[in-house]
Amino acid sequence: MTSSFADIQKRLHECNPKTQILAVSKLQSVEKIRQLHSQGQRLFGENYVQEALDKLDQLKDLSDIQWHFIGRLQKNKVKFVVGHFHLIHSVDSFELAQVISRKAQETGGRQKILLQLNLADEASKGGFSEGILESSISDLASLSGIEICGLMTMPPLFENPEEARPFFKKLFNIRNQYSSRLPQLTHLSMGTSSDYLVAAEEGATLVRLGTILFGERPVK
Ligand SMILES: *Cc1c(COP(=O)(O)O)cnc(C)c1O
Repeated sequence: MTSSFADIQKRLHECNPKTQILAVSKLQSVEKIRQLHSQGQRLFGENYVQEALDKLDQLKDLSDIQWHFIGRLQKNKVKFVVGHFHLIHSVDSFELAQVISRKAQETGGRQKILLQLNLADEASKGGFSEGILESSISDLASLSGIEICGLMTMPPLFENPEEARPFFKKLFNIRNQYSSRLPQLTHLSMGTSSDYLVAAEEGATLVRLGTILFGERPVK
């Protein structure tokens, strides 16, 4: 179920001209990434640390790519990620944020992150619940070396994308609720191939598109 890149950009722009596409290239070849880059795409997201680092290396000639890390991140792999990615979308616990903060301070940098929310309370997914976020937000905000740039969510997969809308609305409202305390909380990373237009309508700043851009993913 691929569409042409130009069609996707056009449809997205009609829904929300401020929404940017993050091309999710996990398990896809570097040739496919080069092809999309040649069509003007610059933001790419990867999920698996080793695969991502290999691709960063193989594509380092494309110096204007902005790499994002969107996969589940184990604390022991933080050292390979901090400083190599523009934005980490998948910060799903206070402890992980602490480890990123420590690593960033060690390297003298500042790592941009998003906080991942698990709004449907799914056991299979990581992420803050609304309650845990509320109780940890001020401690999170006081960590040095990280900049919390926004929120990310991955709602359950529905047959009908409309069913995902309440989750996107919820993320938008949570962001607004904290934005006076944390004015740098601007990004909303939400929406994938199946529901990106709904997410854009609800204020997504980044939609994470894999299948619709690259075709079915090879199995890992
Ligand atoms: C794989 C992945 C996507 C892309 O999903 P598609 O359905 O292929 O668009 C988006 N977000 C995350 C966190 C992913 O792991």
